[in-house]
Amino acid sequence: MPMFNLSGLSNEVKEKDYDVVIVGAGPGGLSAAIYARRAGLKTLVFERATEGGQITLTNMVEDYPGFSTISGGELAERFVDHAREFGVKFANEEVMELSLQGDLKKIKTDMGNEYTAKVVIMATGSNPRKLGVPGENKFANRGVSYCAVCDGSFFKGKEVVVIGGGDSAVEEGIYLSKIASKVRIIHRRDKLRAQKIVQERAFKIPNIEFIWDTVVTEIGGKDAVEYVTLKNVKSGETSKLETSGVFIYVGLVPNSELVKNVVDVDQNGFIFTDEHMETNVKGVYAVGDVRKTVLRQVVTAAADGAIAGVDLTKYFD
Ligand code: NAP
Repeated sequence: MPMFNLSGLSNEVKEKDYDVVIVGAGPGGLSAAIYARRAGLKTLVFERATEGGQITLTNMVEDYPGFSTISGGELAERFVDHAREFGVKFANEEVMELSLQGDLKKIKTDMGNEYTAKVVIMATGSNPRKLGVPGENKFANRGVSYCAVCDGSFFKGKEVVVIGGGDSAVEEGIYLSKIASKVRIIHRRDKLRAQKIVQERAFKIPNIEFIWDTVVTEIGGKDAVEYVTLKNVKSGETSKLETSGVFIYVGLVPNSELVKNVVDVDQNGFIFTDEHMETNVKGVYAVGDVRKTVLRQVVTAAADGAIAGVDLTKYFD
C-alpha cells in the first residue's frame, strides 16, 4: 500500500454543475485545479482511488524544484492541501462515461451521478506496463510487483530482480537495495535510459548488480516466485536465476480508455494536445502522463496543468 492515505479526499459534493471538471488528482490535475480556482471557476476533481497519482508510489522525488528531497506521498499531499485551500471540490468517484461534444460536457460516475461542466481536463495519468511473459499474471502479488514502495518490505533480506533501464527501474532498484540483500537490475540493452545522476548513484551501491543485454522470458516457481529465465539478446544464451521478487518497470500505459475514441491519440493511446494542452475537441484538455509529450515528470505535469488552467478561461469570458 502507499505510504500515506489522502483521507478526506472525498468531500461531499452535492452540486452537480461545474465550470471545470478534472479527471484525476495527480500533479497535472491538481495544478490545473489550482489555476482554474484562481480564475474564480467552480472546479471539481474526480479521483477513483485514494492516492494522489503515480508520485505516491515513488519513494523519493529529488527533481521537483524547491524540494531537494521529498517523499512522493508528502508532495502529493501538499498538492491536495493546496488545491483544497483554494476551494477546489473533490469527489471520490470513478468517471465511467464522458459526453464531450458540444458546449456542455456530461460526466457519469460509478455512483450513478451525472455532472456537467463547460471544460473537462483529462489528468488520468498512466499505469505500469506489463512485461507480457509467462508467470507474470500467475505470480502477481506472490512475488511479482510494479511498486517497490508498496511491496518492498516483503523482501527484507531476500534477493530480487528489477526489470527495465529507465528512471523508475533504477530509482526503485536503489530503494530496494536498502531492504533486499541483493538487487539485480536486468536491462535489455547495455546502456541505461535513466538520468545520469541516478545511474551513477546505482553503480556505487555494492548490492546492486546489472545484468546487461538480457530479457526475462519467464517467471517461475511453485506457490510464489522462485526464479526467472533469462535470455542474452546478443548471444542467445539462456539461463535460470533464482529470485524471490520480480519488480517490473518497463514503461507506462496511458489511462485514456474513456476518451480514446473521441479525442486524437497516438498508437500507444497517449492523447495529442496543442501547445495550450487542448485536444482536438473544444473544451477538452489533457495534462500530465496521459498526454503525448517528450518528458513525464512531476514538474512537467504541473506545468501542463498550469497552461491548461489558464487557457481554459477563454471559455468563460
Ligand atoms: P521508461 O522511461 O519508458 O523506461 C522503460 C524501460 O523499460 C526502458 O529502459 C526500456 O528499455 C525498458 N523496456 C521497455 N519494454 C521492455 C520489455 N518488453 N522488456 C524489457 N525491457 C523493456 O519508463 P519508466 O522508467 O517507468 O519512466 C516513465 C516516465 O516517467 C519517464 O518519462 C521517466 O523519465 C519518468 N520518471 C521520472 C522519474 C524522475 O524524474 N525521478 C522517476 C520515475 C519515472 P529501452 O531503454 O531499451 O527502451
